[in-house]
Amino acid sequence: MKTQTFPPVDQSHKKAFGPITTPERLLFGPGPSNSHPLVLKALSLPPIGHLDPFYVHLMSEVQELLRYAWQTNNRLTLPMSGTGSAAMEATIANSVEPGDTVLVAINGYFGNRLADMADRYRAEVKTIEKSWGEAFSLDEIEAALIKYKPSVFALVHAETSTGVCQPMEGIGELCHKFDCLLLLDTVTSLGGVPLFLDSWNVDLAYSCSQKGLSCPPGLGPFTMSSRAESKLNSRKGKVPNWYLDVSLLNKYWGSDRVYHHTAPVNMNFGIREALRLLAEEGLENSWQRHLANAQMLWDGLERLGLQLHVDRNLRLPTLTTVRIPEGIDGKAFTLHLLEKHGIEVGGGLGMLAGKVWRIGLMGYNSTSENVEKILALFKSELPKFRDNSDVAA
Ligand SMILES: *Cc1c(COP(=O)(O)O)cnc(C)c1O
Repeated sequence: MKTQTFPPVDQSHKKAFGPITTPERLLFGPGPSNSHPLVLKALSLPPIGHLDPFYVHLMSEVQELLRYAWQTNNRLTLPMSGTGSAAMEATIANSVEPGDTVLVAINGYFGNRLADMADRYRAEVKTIEKSWGEAFSLDEIEAALIKYKPSVFALVHAETSTGVCQPMEGIGELCHKFDCLLLLDTVTSLGGVPLFLDSWNVDLAYSCSQKGLSCPPGLGPFTMSSRAESKLNSRKGKVPNWYLDVSLLNKYWGSDRVYHHTAPVNMNFGIREALRLLAEEGLENSWQRHLANAQMLWDGLERLGLQLHVDRNLRLPTLTTVRIPEGIDGKAFTLHLLEKHGIEVGGGLGMLAGKVWRIGLMGYNSTSENVEKILALFKSELPKFRDNSDVAA
């Protein structure tokens, strides 16, 4: 047999890097938030096989804890292997058939993304829009449901781009009255803001690991009701996305435990610990903590003369949008906070780019000490960024 010959190994990309180190950061942006130390500890445990009986048991625990966090009894509740956007796409992929009318409520960046995704799955996309910083009224939603007769209505509960929390009362009942599935983005609300998926008649929802759950990014909790399951079971064609097809995933997460893809086992160790900590604190306590710390932040910022972008009754406790005052370079200020103080504050997204800062107080990061830290920095550092000619005038 002829021995194989290989070309010489290209050494040009081989660099002598040292082992990784990371800077110390307090993450007060739109996510990720800092991870809980016990979650980091769980992540560093040695991986085990994803079909190991121990792991299979752990999967059920994660599902049960997710049902608690979301207040749902949905059988199909599981973390998608991927970030929040993967779970977001999974809700669309599994509920939309080509030609279905999907109504999307857009009052920020993530509503637009939902519309884009639904379009890619060849839905007939209809939208209702509201300015970035406002919420939808029940009347506006009802009028659109009557006008478009959608089979899915997609809505963002916590718009991370604007800091608005959408009031949910009555929306699910309306959707069911008009025989329409309700799809809800709960990425920035899970763990930090009251959520009652079953009482609110939500049919499909998704979230992420790295915001209110204090876990690194990498998993996207997903859930669907039996109504949404019926639509999935009666669809004519296959779900046009193999990786996110819940009917296939169900064979792994359900009782069959058939291999689909190799689960990121360590991420699931991490989210189990994150969800366990949430359950230990109790949902009511966590929601109350997020609200109390957010109110302390809002009051403090207003005392410094800053204007908040959203009316107090619609404000999201997990994310606050602050208007950048006239004459201040918003980007230079956040860069200063990051480089000189190790603190991350977010800038505006989409239509609010350059207009607001976004301050996240999510999960492990929502503490009064952190609020004091942020307020002290805004007080001492922001004046350095004021346009001097302005002050002199
Ligand atoms: C962060 C976010 C997403 C996307 O989640 P990723 O983990 O970044 O993929 C979706 N919707 C909202 C409202 C978000 O804040």
